[in-house]
Amino acid sequence: MNKYFISANWKMNGSKEFTRNFFASMNKDNDEDVKMIVCPADCYLSEVDKLAPKNIIKGAQNISFNSDGAYTGEVSASMLKDLNVEYVIIGHSERREYHSESNEMVAKKFNSAVLHNLKPILCVGESLKQRQNDETFSHIEKQILSVINKDILSKHSFIIAYEPIWAIGTGETATPETANEVHIFIQQTLDKIDSMKSNKIAIIYGGSVNSNNAYNLFKMSHINGALIGGASLDTREFNKIYNIAKEINNE
Ligand code: PEP
Repeated sequence: MNKYFISANWKMNGSKEFTRNFFASMNKDNDEDVKMIVCPADCYLSEVDKLAPKNIIKGAQNISFNSDGAYTGEVSASMLKDLNVEYVIIGHSERREYHSESNEMVAKKFNSAVLHNLKPILCVGESLKQRQNDETFSHIEKQILSVINKDILSKHSFIIAYEPIWAIGTGETATPETANEVHIFIQQTLDKIDSMKSNKIAIIYGGSVNSNNAYNLFKMSHINGALIGGASLDTREFNKIYNIAKEINNE
């Protein structure tokens, strides 16, 4: 397994010019242990393909759970595969909240992704209310068990992103200890599904990650990188976060 995945979620941001500028000063290292994934809006995937250095792995932010047909505005897993996309974010909290994506829909999208050899980045995480009500673990366990089973764990490659909703875009990061506690719980949940296969799954953290907090997060035992929103829109900041993971990996 790669030790770290540093992943950019550009959300609904960017332009052709932004993409050009972003990659003009991008880190071109190709480190086997520290992978860089960039997930632009679908309409800029080709631009990223054209401009990104070879070390950048392309990801998308969503897919349809249908394979093809009369679904206006949707993009299928096979279409993304056609654009050399390798990863796809599935079940981001913004999709769950603003597009009413249920665990069942997330599971269908996940299955469609792996069927077409896309690797899902499955997002899970609790709301502030759930954390305050002591429901973090039960909520995350449900999110995982409604998607991952023994067959999936044995046959497919994917990443889990722990993204506490209260930390996304708020500037309020989970402490490294709080995040790691949940990562350990996720690891234990996967172990219960199949302990022989569970250790190949990377568990990354998302929620206001930046170059100031990345070191302490990445030093934790069960944090294998980050899914980064706001800070991934700044090449220098994103490069810095990548270099922190590299530095820890070489320590
Ligand atoms: C995200 O949306 O996946 C995210 C983690 O955003 P931010 O880094 O801005 O909190």
